[in-house]
Amino acid sequence: MSEEAVNETDVPTGGPDSVEQPTGPAPDPETPPGPEPDQPTEPEPAPPAPVPDQIAWEPRTWYEITYACRTPDCPNLNYIGYAPMFYSNDGQLKNIRVVDSVCGKDSMIVTATKLDPQPAED
Ligand SMILES: [Zn+2]
Repeated sequence: MSEEAVNETDVPTGGPDSVEQPTGPAPDPETPPGPEPDQPTEPEPAPPAPVPDQIAWEPRTWYEITYACRTPDCPNLNYIGYAPMFYSNDGQLKNIRVVDSVCGKDSMIVTATKLDPQPAED
């Protein structure tokens, strides 16, 4: 007779489980109307991004250039070279090339400035 008496006439608990909490999490207070802000009224000038591949080469023109080797395993990688006189040949990119003397591959021409005045051709 040591067992606990469980068969008493208890009222089954579980009544207050369905009581909704009156103070739930409040909705977001004044969310902004849109995630994207309007365009700024002041148009900011675009910063001059370096665009090395869009050099306006003129044919038969001398330039001073800077160039950089872009071969990944080359000791000259990203080394900026300078050539005070560089001829554009016929102005076509396939004929405007700087070959790196270390790796023997084409370097990227970073900047090109037209010489003014142009040196006299013989
Ligand atoms: Zn190289």
